[in-house]
Amino acid sequence: MYLCANYNDINMSSKVRVRFAPSPTGPLHIGGVRTALYNYLFAKKHGGDFLLRIEDTDQTRFVQGAEKYIVEALAWCGISPDEGIGGEDRGNGPYRQSERKPMYREYAEQLLAADKAYIAFDTAEELDAMRQMAKDAGASNWQYNYITRGNMKNSLTLPKEEVDAKIAAGEPYVVRIKLPRDHEVRLEDTIRGWVSVNTNNMDDKVLFKADGMPTYHLANIVDDHLMGITHVIRGEEWLPSAPLHVMLYEAFGWECPTFAHLPLLLKPDGPGKLSKRDGDRLGFPVFPIDWKNDETGETASGYREFGFFPGAFINMLALLGWNPGTEQEVFDLQGLVDAFDLSKVSKSGAKFDFEKGKWFNQLYLRDLSEVELAQELKNVLDNEGLSYNEAHLGTIATMMSERATFPKDLLEEGRFLFETPSVYDEKTRNKKWSDASAPMMQDIAHRFNALPDFTSEAIEASFKGYLAEKELGFGKVGPSFRLAVTGRGMGPSMFTICAVLGKDEVLARISKAIKVLG
Ligand code: GLU
Repeated sequence: MYLCANYNDINMSSKVRVRFAPSPTGPLHIGGVRTALYNYLFAKKHGGDFLLRIEDTDQTRFVQGAEKYIVEALAWCGISPDEGIGGEDRGNGPYRQSERKPMYREYAEQLLAADKAYIAFDTAEELDAMRQMAKDAGASNWQYNYITRGNMKNSLTLPKEEVDAKIAAGEPYVVRIKLPRDHEVRLEDTIRGWVSVNTNNMDDKVLFKADGMPTYHLANIVDDHLMGITHVIRGEEWLPSAPLHVMLYEAFGWECPTFAHLPLLLKPDGPGKLSKRDGDRLGFPVFPIDWKNDETGETASGYREFGFFPGAFINMLALLGWNPGTEQEVFDLQGLVDAFDLSKVSKSGAKFDFEKGKWFNQLYLRDLSEVELAQELKNVLDNEGLSYNEAHLGTIATMMSERATFPKDLLEEGRFLFETPSVYDEKTRNKKWSDASAPMMQDIAHRFNALPDFTSEAIEASFKGYLAEKELGFGKVGPSFRLAVTGRGMGPSMFTICAVLGKDEVLARISKAIKVLG
């Protein structure tokens, strides 16, 4: 039996070192961001190191720009690697597997010399033929294993001279792991508990390919070992590979890291993994930032460009699959570090909930200071090329933040402050605008014009003075006044709005309204 127990206590006595090891095959899915986040939180919680390594051994799946995207997305989230790509080189580099290429062969040789691996010459066609034969005989799951390898073209079946001759002649070959027969491989996963597989049900996986590159399995284990990784925290889709990895550690005679396989992110409205298609169908992004593949033109939208604050995005992600064991839901990054505990990560998949993400964003938005809100609004206005008086942005943004979830809402809710109304709310117009309205607006404009200081207090006093003088209730004048100045039926205090707009603009809007509404 091969055991890979959860050496938590042992490993914790040495410095915790974890890694996020994405393959640059496209934009990073939010599930990947969550994996990076949990690694980061775990490292920081235990005073350890978080590494970023790029696993680009599969040249056929390499996508230009994907690595840059990963680095930028993590930086936006505030998840900064201590070491590796985007972090320091602490003598364990290079941190891109393609640049480590020459090193892997040596490890494959080491396993060959120890009889833990063998060379195989079977071509893709020959392997397909074997699979087909097995299928025809009723066995759908053909494996290259301790039984079948005896009938294949490899260094276990061919005489040594023939193997050497083939290699000398440049015939392509791969290196496969030589799994022993009928051994129980048991590994203790921090999240899932004990996982057990018999080697009879495992494949002699390829470790080293004919193109001179290692496979993911070999490169991953060699690098985790050389980089001193103590805990491997990764997505559930890698759990089936974990027994093979345990066998590789065993074959090299290296100590296993502690494994933790994270639950999947599930669709919000049904079974299965959350995919890009779900996002497109339901109208939300499944990537952290916008993506564009320059070669294919393929694009995908991201949380950043949607208007999410990184803090809100991270807060939402952290709670998908982990809970602090308390009622607390709102955490900043440091708060997450303090509260994070791998043993509180759930085994079952986490249903994605975009509405909850919006709720977090709203909280984060409302928590901004007036200066920060003003800056958010300024960015939106600049983007749209709208002009504004900088002095009022803080007041406007604060006023609008009550109704906003995203920075863009600060403008949407208050667009009437930056654009003279061209349409007037139909309902208010029918109910509140009467023949008496135009003369009333004239009077108000007249009074406003005489105000030396156009402050909200002065405007309020003037407006109320007018009501008192004419013995009019607020309901008789207020709604039509709002309609004339903003085009709307509802909104924040009209006195603040008028002060923000300034006298000239208010007077101009009133006279325009009189013309349009009659
Ligand atoms: N390169 C693998 C991936 O793309 C890494 C899996 C692991 O963390 O071991 O997810």
